[in-house]
Amino acid sequence: MATVRLRGVDDDMPVGKIVCVGANYDKHIAEMGGKADAPPDPVFFFKPPSAIVRDRGLIEYPAFSSLLHHELEMVLLFGRGGSVIPAARAIDHLAGIGVGLDLTARDVQSRDRERGRPWAIAKGFDYSAPVSDFLPLKPGLNPDDLRMTLTVNGEMRQHASTAEMLLSSAELIAAASLYFRFERGDLLFTGTPDGVGPLERGDALKIELEGVVGATFKINDPGCKLSGT
Ligand code: ZN
Repeated sequence: MATVRLRGVDDDMPVGKIVCVGANYDKHIAEMGGKADAPPDPVFFFKPPSAIVRDRGLIEYPAFSSLLHHELEMVLLFGRGGSVIPAARAIDHLAGIGVGLDLTARDVQSRDRERGRPWAIAKGFDYSAPVSDFLPLKPGLNPDDLRMTLTVNGEMRQHASTAEMLLSSAELIAAASLYFRFERGDLLFTGTPDGVGPLERGDALKIELEGVVGATFKINDPGCKLSGT
């Protein structure tokens, strides 16, 4: 069973469902060819808990794709469940915050979008949800005012503030909980800013929610498997 680490808590937390939102930063909507000034009408989708990769983990490049994209996102970890959660109370349901990558098989997503198929494969394949540890929320730590960065092989790829989100953390929780009842251990990926782009085998990734948590990952280089044989 997939688990995540909540710092300061002895046991790892089993992960329930992983809810993701599709368009929550206007510059990313624009880079994907959408209307940046459109009113936010969140597209929700899921990843299975089995897609989780933890800090310092190895990510297998999907065999069925040749265009694996990174999407850097703040990730919320639920400590208390609830449905139809009012925005004013939403943050009380969180156990912690972290940062992750909504890895996307962009070629599969484009193909399936054209055919009117869901994004289950493009977004939910194995290894598609690398996440950091989670830091418990405390007074003064506002999830909607944090800078986050992704570097690949030491080069900056994505850098933004969660203050740029179209829907705040509380508004996202309120919107998603109209349809999906949250439970302890569920995760909510809050959408990517602009700067998404391709990853290659052998890449070294570093993600950071500045002053909060970070994590590193490596994309599997098949050449590594052969060493010593
Ligand atoms: Zn995303």
